[in-house]
Amino acid sequence: MNLVVVSNRVSRGKPNEPMTGGLAAALLPVVEKTGAIWVGSSGRVRDGNHKEPFAEVEALGAGALAMLDLPAAHYGGYYEGFANSALWPAMHSRADLIRASHEDYTSYREVNAFMARALLRFRKPDSVFWIQDYHFLALGAELRDLGVTQPIGFFLHTPWPARAVIAGVPNHRELIEAMLSYDLIGFQTDEDCENFLSYVQNDLEFEVRDGVINSSFGRTRAAVFPIGIDPDKFAQQATKAMTHPDVTRLRRSLNGEKLAIGVDRLDYSKGLVNRIKAFDKMWSLHPNLRRSVSLLQIATPSRGAIEAYGNLASEVAKLVTDVNGVHGEVDWTPIRYLNKGFGQGVLAGLYRTAQVGVVTPLQDGMNLVAKEYVAAQNPADPGVLVLSKFAGAANELDAALLVNPHDIDGMARTLATALAMPLTERRMRWEAMMEKLNSGTIQQWFADFIEALQDTHSAGNAAL
Ligand code: UDP
Repeated sequence: MNLVVVSNRVSRGKPNEPMTGGLAAALLPVVEKTGAIWVGSSGRVRDGNHKEPFAEVEALGAGALAMLDLPAAHYGGYYEGFANSALWPAMHSRADLIRASHEDYTSYREVNAFMARALLRFRKPDSVFWIQDYHFLALGAELRDLGVTQPIGFFLHTPWPARAVIAGVPNHRELIEAMLSYDLIGFQTDEDCENFLSYVQNDLEFEVRDGVINSSFGRTRAAVFPIGIDPDKFAQQATKAMTHPDVTRLRRSLNGEKLAIGVDRLDYSKGLVNRIKAFDKMWSLHPNLRRSVSLLQIATPSRGAIEAYGNLASEVAKLVTDVNGVHGEVDWTPIRYLNKGFGQGVLAGLYRTAQVGVVTPLQDGMNLVAKEYVAAQNPADPGVLVLSKFAGAANELDAALLVNPHDIDGMARTLATALAMPLTERRMRWEAMMEKLNSGTIQQWFADFIEALQDTHSAGNAAL
């Protein structure tokens, strides 16, 4: 098998550089180990004749990276436009934030078609194509139009919303019909998969039986493959990171005070505003927790050219200033707020230093930070994970303290409970969560998906 993995961005995975998100963090180790070729945007654009895709290829462990310059005329409409101002808000059930012109949709389709042409260069008779995420919903259909008959799978890292929400995306019907060229479509949770199948059945009126769709576009299976991490690697990184200068400086600065940590892209799906309001409430309700616990919130800048993200950045910055202004003292800052990214080698040590990990998205496909926080803990004295019910990770990590991120009072109470939790209970919950992480690793996710893709493709051919 010759695996070709495709995503919008690729990552070289330098240990001291931040990951661009969960997708890159998840794919890097599997590409390095399995010898796959990973194709994505170089982050640069190119003017002129984009009919001839240009790719720079370099080795990555046993595999390779191919970085493509995307067509300048369509990049904005594709990336900031249709992908991140129509699909991303819709996938996270924020129909109110959907903004897209018909030109954006045209650009999105152009970039999908461009990527399909670029992939032909890597096609071998035994190739298997695995397309990642909402940037490339139509790539399978474009590949089929170019005559590709090999297995093509797709995995969605974000949630899939209810029918009424996806119907708010311009051209949704055409786009979802295009998805039916895939042999296999993978989702993070049962709910995502059910929402998708419900659209196919009720809106497209195709027959669905046991997760298999029989349509005029072919035979497609939809199934659930919750993405994991490499818990052993994370645990090792965390132990090693405890001597990293950033981590030792953080620990020294705490002076015995407890620490809660949040690590998120600065994105409206992550629930940062409600989280900060919950801490505000907690310090108001429990004055004894002032000076005895602070929050380190890492909020990595993301998609800054999009208005909704600019507005969020200003809102969060103002809220942090207000809360620090109310509860702070001459020698104590309640919220340490950082707008920058860290390499996972440091991040693991920051997680391990914090007694509470706070992961409270309003909607999230999986949320790898939740899993990484757990894996990074000291087994003898583990911290507590406070986790939103609306993160995909909550399905497996049900031994976390689960919260409703819309209920600020409830979150404030749960944070206080987490800070007071006795060691025996912390250990019990942590062990239960580690068991889940160890049985659903990133290696397992990868192997399960590829096996299912090959089976589905053969079964489809047999049914012809
Ligand atoms: N990350 C990182 N440095 C940072 C912040 C985050 O390397 O400063 C990584 C983090 O370790 C995780 C990923 O980025 O692997 C974020 O994935 P998640 O699923 O939590 O959210 P996403 O950003 O994909 O929505």
